[in-house]
Amino acid sequence: MMSSPRARLIGRKTSGALVAALALGCGEGTSPPAPANVTVSPDIVIIDSIGGTVQFIADVRDARSAAISGASVTWSVSNPVVATIDANTGLATAITLGGTTVTARVAAVSDEATLEVFVPSATVFVAGETYFGRRQYIEYLAGDLPVIVSAPHGGNLEPAEISARTSGVTTRDLNTQELARAFASALFDRTGRRAHIIINRLHRNRLDANREIVEAAQGDVFGEWAWAEYHGFIEAAKQSVDEQYGSGLYIDLHGHGHDIQRLELGYLLAASDLELPDNLLDDPDLVNRSSIRALAAAVGFVELVRGATSLGGLLAQEGFPTVPSPAQPDPGGAPYFTGGYSTARHGSRDGGSISGVQIEANLIGVRDSASARAAFADALAGTLEAFMAMHFQVNLALHPSTAIFRR
Ligand SMILES: [Zn+2]
Repeated sequence: MMSSPRARLIGRKTSGALVAALALGCGEGTSPPAPANVTVSPDIVIIDSIGGTVQFIADVRDARSAAISGASVTWSVSNPVVATIDANTGLATAITLGGTTVTARVAAVSDEATLEVFVPSATVFVAGETYFGRRQYIEYLAGDLPVIVSAPHGGNLEPAEISARTSGVTTRDLNTQELARAFASALFDRTGRRAHIIINRLHRNRLDANREIVEAAQGDVFGEWAWAEYHGFIEAAKQSVDEQYGSGLYIDLHGHGHDIQRLELGYLLAASDLELPDNLLDDPDLVNRSSIRALAAAVGFVELVRGATSLGGLLAQEGFPTVPSPAQPDPGGAPYFTGGYSTARHGSRDGGSISGVQIEANLIGVRDSASARAAFADALAGTLEAFMAMHFQVNLALHPSTAIFRR
């Protein structure tokens, strides 16, 4: 299910190497240097399969920090039930789930590393069931509709094991996790069926799931693991939608702090693109740069971006001002989010059958209270019912007639 490599390497240094002061004998200038410091790498590692292996390496230095090659290193683990290690080579093998300390000892000095064995529990997902990644940082509500919603910035978990991110944006999108859940239940109330929902429960100061991995996790092994799980769940959802329906819609749900209280829909089109008149916006180059490239092959591009039946047009009709839409075809010079990493990766710009949009929700009347979230969630669910029927020829409701009575 996941594309995570067998072992994830390289993290922050947590265990300092020990330094031993050894008394050197005098008069023998050619005696071999005494090891004064040893550093084990990787410092933290996760093995994701039973029987999987990882090679530890010891860097041995003398008192002047010169490397000592060929030093005799002895390897051991604190919990051989979890993993074993070859005492001479440092090759560790996963035995069962859990954690252990790995120690490298050279003469009187030693260093430790952390080894965890973690195997994702589920590889098959059932609609209506909830799946968690490691330590429940990432949550996947499996669905059966061709609609996928991710919430990357609404988490609030700040585990000590993950280093705080030191660059990039670290503020959360308030109440967007709650908004995603409200949307899921509103759509279920209307249709009796479920969207796929992927939630990053980590605070953005631990993981920015809407960035490539380097900026997202900034080298933290556990952050990188959560990042891979988050995108792995989205990929699993996309695969399911593609197999069931042949096409679908991906929504990356955010909250913006811009002054103008309106929804901002990002299709990877710049504000300057949206300022173009319709005849110039309808350009194959822009279509191919957009996250709705696949859908635009079947539906007129300008109509999809800002026509009456666009997401923006339908949401505006529900009483939620939106850019782009017929009334607000471009941002008008105001700040505007065009769509980020996830919209590019999981939409259809680079191919595939799933078109994408980044929805940036304003705060007031949309996500500032439970009642506002419920109202917007219902409007978004209704909008998607109409949008999917018109542009994907899919009726989201399992039993349309009873859905009417439900209302
Ligand atoms: Zn955001």
